[in-house]
Amino acid sequence: MSVDRPALCWIDGAIVDAREARFSIRDHGLLYGDGLFEGIRVRHGRVFRLGDHLARFAVGARAIALELPRPLAEIREIVLATVRAHGTPEAYVRLLVTRGEGPLGVDPTPCGPARLACLVASIALYPEEKRRLGIDLVTSSLRRPGPDVLDPRVKSLNYLNNVLAKLEARSRGADEALLLNAAGLVAEAAVANVFVARGGELLTPPATDGALEGITRATVLELAPALGIPARERSLGRFDLFAAEECFLTGSGAGLVGVRSLDGRRVGSGAPGPLLAKLAVAFDEAYALRGERAL
Ligand code: PMP
Repeated sequence: MSVDRPALCWIDGAIVDAREARFSIRDHGLLYGDGLFEGIRVRHGRVFRLGDHLARFAVGARAIALELPRPLAEIREIVLATVRAHGTPEAYVRLLVTRGEGPLGVDPTPCGPARLACLVASIALYPEEKRRLGIDLVTSSLRRPGPDVLDPRVKSLNYLNNVLAKLEARSRGADEALLLNAAGLVAEAAVANVFVARGGELLTPPATDGALEGITRATVLELAPALGIPARERSLGRFDLFAAEECFLTGSGAGLVGVRSLDGRRVGSGAPGPLLAKLAVAFDEAYALRGERAL
């Protein structure tokens, strides 16, 4: 067990206590949610798939026409240095970039330079009991926006859709929200991707159905075939969750977590299943192989 250390933040070239890190009230990240972030897991002193997180960050920046204030190689060093300074082998990295300061008004053209920060904190996971028993999902009354509204493949600072879906789930006594897209197909959970097992095969919605291209999701899709579990992308409805032998969520913060119910009805056996257990072991080993050593 790691001891909780105070969160640290790299900002403006220095690593400081996170409570000292400041953003301007004129920053469009705050005024309009105009910016991007990455949530990256540190396990066993290794930063998991840092190259892939940085690649997603860079693609997102291109998609919203935001010029990163430093080259990716430097951002990589910033992440590793902040993780090293935090010194805990189990941690969570929040890398973020905002459009920077500008006058009031949504126009980003007078803003800049973009402002970068890297926060490293202890990780708060689902409690052990939830992991053992499985979590409860409810279908959100909110829909995940489509690429014609705000492409969910961009991990933007605009997370109000996710926040409100989570709030609704919590107020309905559940742990997590299942979000559908405008066509009624499963997109993802509030801040995690969705997998089901049917006929021994793993299925997850394609990103074009409204999911973030999750790094944990990609890892599961890569690991499963080596374990003899076929895995592919396929559109899913709520039907597929009720028909599934197993269902689980994936995310850097959530890890791999089993779903035991949807809208008060049992999913699968009503407990995390054997495929998830197999994948969780393989996933843990993947941290050692796919992580960049920081500590
Ligand atoms: N979807 C959303 C909306 C998320 O915020 C996250 C967490 N970053 C995920 C999926 C899972 O992605 P990853 O495995 O890259 O953390």
